[in-house]
Amino acid sequence: GLEHVLRPGRIGRLALPHRVVTGAMHLGWEARDDGGAALAAFYVERARGGAGLMVTGGAAVSPEGAGGPGYGVLDDARFRARLRRVAAEVRAAGGLLALQLFHAGRYARPPAGGPHPVAPSAVYSAFSRHTPTALDAAGIARAVADFARGAAHARDLGFAAVEIMGSEGYLLDQFLSPLTNLRDDEWGGDPQRRSRFPVAVLRAVRAAVGTDFPVIMRMTGDDLLAGGTTRDDVLAYARAFAAAGADALNVGVGWHESPVPTVQAVVPPGHWVPVAAAVKAAVGALPVLASNRINRLSQAEAVLAGTPLDLVSMARPFLADPALVANARAGRPVNVCVACNQACIDRSLADEPVSCMVNPRVGREHEPAATPAASPRRVAVVGAGPAGLKAAHGLALAGHRVTVYEADDEPGGQFRLAGRVPGKSDYLAAVGFLVAELARLDVALHTGRRITAADRDLLGGYAGVVVATGVLPRPVPIPGVDLPHVLGYPAAFADGALGERVVVIGGGGVAVDVAHLASDPAGPARRVTVLHRGRRLGARLGRSTRWAVLAELRRQRVDVVPGVRDLRISPAGVCFADAEGRPRTVPADTVVIAAGQVPDDGLVATVRAAGVWHHVVGGARDTAGLDAVRAFAEGAAAAEAF
Ligand code: SF4
Repeated sequence: GLEHVLRPGRIGRLALPHRVVTGAMHLGWEARDDGGAALAAFYVERARGGAGLMVTGGAAVSPEGAGGPGYGVLDDARFRARLRRVAAEVRAAGGLLALQLFHAGRYARPPAGGPHPVAPSAVYSAFSRHTPTALDAAGIARAVADFARGAAHARDLGFAAVEIMGSEGYLLDQFLSPLTNLRDDEWGGDPQRRSRFPVAVLRAVRAAVGTDFPVIMRMTGDDLLAGGTTRDDVLAYARAFAAAGADALNVGVGWHESPVPTVQAVVPPGHWVPVAAAVKAAVGALPVLASNRINRLSQAEAVLAGTPLDLVSMARPFLADPALVANARAGRPVNVCVACNQACIDRSLADEPVSCMVNPRVGREHEPAATPAASPRRVAVVGAGPAGLKAAHGLALAGHRVTVYEADDEPGGQFRLAGRVPGKSDYLAAVGFLVAELARLDVALHTGRRITAADRDLLGGYAGVVVATGVLPRPVPIPGVDLPHVLGYPAAFADGALGERVVVIGGGGVAVDVAHLASDPAGPARRVTVLHRGRRLGARLGRSTRWAVLAELRRQRVDVVPGVRDLRISPAGVCFADAEGRPRTVPADTVVIAAGQVPDDGLVATVRAAGVWHHVVGGARDTAGLDAVRAFAEGAAAAEAF
């Protein structure tokens, strides 16, 4: 049941349809000069999908507060005009939108020639790679006034509420923390003085919008930094924000510089709930929101049923499924965010517009949605990995009669393997969503049915064929590769496949996954070594994820050897020359080859010969630069092209 989630809620005077708030996400098209069309369409699609209160990505209250080149600045009349349209369209769709008032402080990354970042003190930031200028008293007063002016704009522009961005290590947090506030004046020196700036901002915002307009304070419940804000100080700050007129506290966890993963797949869902619960206990009746790694409505339900917390903030799940609330209410399948960060956070960190691996429509909401085709046709999809399932889904939504053929006994392709890696079980849920959708849409899914050249006539009977046959492990010319204890990576994921001493050969994401699986502390104790030719293991993993996963491998004592040459496998182990050219041997009971992939594209010629319309998608098309984001996007594109 979802009775706690679906209960109406309240923030100040604002009535909420349920207890889930769509958390702020910087999308990367806030500053696009399109009259606000794409931004409005993004939020309208979610409002129509049953989202309650949504919080926009950060709107900078001043040019020096912008988080990067893609941020809108509230001083800019054209940005405000776009926001007015966004607020109006969301209202018309029955939605509720709060504007997030944002100042990055020392995390600001101004464009060349832009204003220099400012902060309480001149403390270098490894995140922005800037040393900010310390604000003087007049600068602090101006920053407070900037927030107040931004809040007044939000109200005038037709937003339903504002959220003050005081978490994740941005300007307000920088004042609160002894690591970044080295002042000894009325704005720093002890916790009470460090809290003066955020409290002044909150008071000024309240004064600007009046008592009846909801103001949410986003604050950090635990900065996860050595020498940072103490737990007692966090709770004192929460009480100070309550006293200064916040209508709700939205509790974030971690700064951008924290060495502890907060939103990656390696973090168990619900892990940070106690942090928000501690804040709730400190402020009594004031509504408090939990956030970070709450991925499903069922998890939100558990939070609301099991703690005094009032609301749950979920962000990425609304990228994965814009209609997650409506779908859950109606008992339809719900798409799941797999916490890969590949199309969302990693792109945002690279100043690119975000999208979503499992929902490539993110960022294209202003383009027409699939409408049922005038004349449904019969179409075959060969391969039920991510690309094939996504293509089949799109084709079925367009009303075509779709048949899927999968050679394996189960659908899912590479996602079935990934789903066995610790922390990645949601990859199986993403497959489960698509399979459930195909069932709902009457798609015939034949597993254990390999399509070969002999099926030319079968394929020729369709109006179109999507070839999504995926990849094969790349053959490697390593002496000894045919020995019985050497496995291609797909076999390594099977139960009981790995011995006690495991050597993984390869340096990409799959090799990292195999090492992670083999060293899972929940499994048998194993000695795991990764041998790779390059310098950086998992060099193509995303910026937000690579460090967290490699830290996990270190914690599990996986031995990573870069720069290896002259590999040779013997029954006893693997011999090689290390980066210095020294000969070495690592004993191994199991050797796993995870050294890349080649397209499994043998069927393409057959389909061509059959003379039907066809599209080749995902790994079957090309493995260079293949990732699941591309596989999903190509599957979706093939469905649109048919
Ligand atoms: Fe979730 Fe990945 Fe989509 Fe981001 S890109 S919302 S992490 S599934």
